[in-house]
Amino acid sequence: MYIVQVAAECAPVIKAGGLGDVVYGLSRELEIRGHTVEIILPKYDCMRYDHIWGLHEAYHDLWVPWYDGTIPCDVYCGWVYGRLCFFIEPKSQDYFFNRGLYYGAIDDQLRFAFFSKAALEFLLQTQKRPDIIHCHDWQTGLLPVMLYEMYQFHGLDTQRVCYTIHNFKHQGVAGIEVLFATGLNRETYYYSSDRLQDNTHLTAINFMKGGIVYSNYVNTVSPHHAWEARFSEVGCGLGETLHQHQSKFGGILNGIDYGVWNPEVDPYLPYHYSIDDLTLKQKNKKALQERLWLDSNNQPIVAYIGRLDAQKGVHLVHHALYYSLSRNAQFVLLGSATEAGINNWFSHEKAYLNDNSDCHLELSFNEELAHLIYAGADMIVVPSNYEPCGLTQMIGLRYGTVPVVRGVGGLINTVFDQDHDYNKPPEARNGYVFYQTDDKALESALGRGIDLWYEEPKNSNNWFARA
Ligand code: ADP
Repeated sequence: MYIVQVAAECAPVIKAGGLGDVVYGLSRELEIRGHTVEIILPKYDCMRYDHIWGLHEAYHDLWVPWYDGTIPCDVYCGWVYGRLCFFIEPKSQDYFFNRGLYYGAIDDQLRFAFFSKAALEFLLQTQKRPDIIHCHDWQTGLLPVMLYEMYQFHGLDTQRVCYTIHNFKHQGVAGIEVLFATGLNRETYYYSSDRLQDNTHLTAINFMKGGIVYSNYVNTVSPHHAWEARFSEVGCGLGETLHQHQSKFGGILNGIDYGVWNPEVDPYLPYHYSIDDLTLKQKNKKALQERLWLDSNNQPIVAYIGRLDAQKGVHLVHHALYYSLSRNAQFVLLGSATEAGINNWFSHEKAYLNDNSDCHLELSFNEELAHLIYAGADMIVVPSNYEPCGLTQMIGLRYGTVPVVRGVGGLINTVFDQDHDYNKPPEARNGYVFYQTDDKALESALGRGIDLWYEEPKNSNNWFARA
């Protein structure tokens, strides 16, 4: 099959979180299975150009209708570690993708509505006729709407759309102007509860709802989260829509790309290792301690890697830090916050703990350091409030770093409690799970991990065979 991915991220060239990992890794796997895959992305000014090979202009002056006029775009083409990617660069005063950021601009909805329209226009004008267009998250939710309502009449009439929801929290809720900008117009038609009208804000349209209504198949990234999205508040108002479209909705568990996440070949690690020789994991631990100026003592290292965001259970991340220190464990945090309050909070903690040689807080996005932490740490905490799938626990398992997770979303589908998961045979249990959101709940799981490290050091990292 010929598959085109349309997304706002693709690792490592554009990565804010798991979306980027999945778009790259899934494309690679689909190609290994014999499909032809191309990826369409925005050409952000701040992406990692050093990860693109052979970037060149592939299409000059792609005229994309926008409001009453058109915006010309250049489309660049290049290879990202073997994947063929097309990058759309609009040339207008709006500077949609020249803002020094991927997300967080005041006109994000217009930026990505434009991107979705430009992607369709690119397919149309270059005579590309994929079998499947695979869209991801709210940024591309309007693509299936425009395909069905407009572009099928221009020639894109055989394409089927798969729409994957990586996070229900961000849905792309916008005002009427998006309908005028994209040329969809017909506000009374689209402001209907079975089309684009937001289920809560009746005067708004909702991109993600459009993606659900108009795609041929819709999935989220784990079976448990698919259930949660329909039956609990984590569907963020879209539960009823999913219910109406349940026959085409499912949960498919994400995976990690073992070509990227593999301690036997990971180029970012000073020492490569496998289950056959865990002493080399110890050497990475020493390298991590040295790099972060931690005491080179014989204590377990507990790590957190991820966005610092309410979704991730930041109050429990904070508690994990102090609890680990109180239990003679070291703590390493790598994370960045977009919310000023959370950023200030962790900046304050960082300053306060500056002289503590048993912990390090790195408040940035750093791919290379992330790899070393996965390899050097003994445990990784993932105390999320909700977690559609979560990749950090899976990466942890691959690196022999025991996950300590809250039992929600995809974490339930991937981590099985060492002591309490009686549905699994002992050899399939691979971490520690807690369920409530209070400090004691976290302690009940993390405490058992630290106990095991001290009481049975030989066994404590020996679980990545179960990844
Ligand atoms: P998200 O909700 O952010 O998508 P996931 O667990 O699905 O969470 O994926 C997170 C991905 O982003 C992982 O590959 C993780 O290593 C990476 N990541 C998150 N924060 C950082 C950071 N500050 N520096 C480097 N990598 C990070």
